[in-house]
Amino acid sequence: MNERIDNLKKDFQRLYGSAPAVLVKGPGRVDLMGIHTDYNDGFVLPIAVNVDVLAVGKARDDRKVSVHSINFDKTAEFSLDNIEFDNVNRWSNYIRGVCHFIQEKGIMLQGANIVLHGNVPLGSGLSSSAALEMATGVLFQALTGFEMSGPDMALVGQRAENKFVGVNTGIMDQFVSRNGQKDHALFLDCRSLAFEQLPLDTSKVKVVVCNTMKQRGLVDSEYGLRRSQCEEAVRLFQQWKPGVKALRDVTCGDLAKYGDKLPEVVRMRAEHVISENERGLKCREVLASGGLEEFGELMNASHDSARDCYEVSCPELEAMVEVTRSAPGSLCGRLAGAGFGGCTVSLVGDASVEDFVETVKREYEKKTGLAPALYVCTAEDGAGVLETN
Ligand code: ADP
Ligand code: MG
Repeated sequence: MNERIDNLKKDFQRLYGSAPAVLVKGPGRVDLMGIHTDYNDGFVLPIAVNVDVLAVGKARDDRKVSVHSINFDKTAEFSLDNIEFDNVNRWSNYIRGVCHFIQEKGIMLQGANIVLHGNVPLGSGLSSSAALEMATGVLFQALTGFEMSGPDMALVGQRAENKFVGVNTGIMDQFVSRNGQKDHALFLDCRSLAFEQLPLDTSKVKVVVCNTMKQRGLVDSEYGLRRSQCEEAVRLFQQWKPGVKALRDVTCGDLAKYGDKLPEVVRMRAEHVISENERGLKCREVLASGGLEEFGELMNASHDSARDCYEVSCPELEAMVEVTRSAPGSLCGRLAGAGFGGCTVSLVGDASVEDFVETVKREYEKKTGLAPALYVCTAEDGAGVLETN
């Protein structure tokens, strides 16, 4: 961290001829519960992690923003009076989008010089985009001094990603990247955006993210199909329970009563979402009493349901789950994100982490011929100011 901060400050001095006024961070994230529950108005349980985007900045007297990414070794410039999509430095669109949607709330931003560096791997399932958006949001907040709640800042980031960058994502990534808390998992109701911090002491148990190195190929078409199957389930349930607006409103009892009237595939999709929401609620009790073994069992059940009822797993994820569940110190193995490739996530007893990592690397490669990437994570605070001058 210190070397990264020194480099940020050196680069800022070199590019802009002075010392920066503030240092901020925006963390990446991983989800521990809630596979495909977000668009069903359900519950998710992510943590903010110990890889992040760091940014230093200083306000300018004019309405220009100049931002340098050390990762891309590129500088982008734009005016706050006319924020346009950048086809050349496409990475700068996350920053432009956040500025645009802050200003849309009637807040007049000041221009700024910025240097940033991320160690969140891009496109690997740890959400470098949310990390960048939330680092940008808190940086401008610190430089301009406006009021904005953590949940509102997350919504600005989501809008930037959906409407400015043009990527369709839910609210979870930005929400936990901004509102996460050290050694806690964040329980989020995706309907009301009510949230709770649940204790998860990551000095005792590490959260290990394992990238299968299988690109998330089918994700666009299959994601759309799953959404429409859930919508169909909602339409059918409305005949029997008129108050149902989303699968969130359907209980296990309802499913037992009416399930056999649903087309089989639709019933299976509903079963996953409904049981996943129940597991989400159960996590609140389990984590409140520190039951990590039981939490691991719930995470395993989450994966099995996503595989069997929601059919979003793939051979590489199955290989990784098998290996991670039986590796030393492991409490569980579960796909992370939307499935169809990407990462798994495991809870691993702190003392066994090195053994776990070594075993998983060896055994996964033996099974698949792919060399995985592993990230040993802790639960960290959400985006915020680290230093001011
Ligand atoms: P992820 O799963 O990591 O969020 P995305 O495709 O949603 O993957 O976002 C990755 C994009 O975010 C990158 O291609 C880049 O445009 C932007 N980004 C993330 N981190 C940085 C960084 N440190 N510097 C510049 N751009 C970044
Ligand atoms: Mg992203």
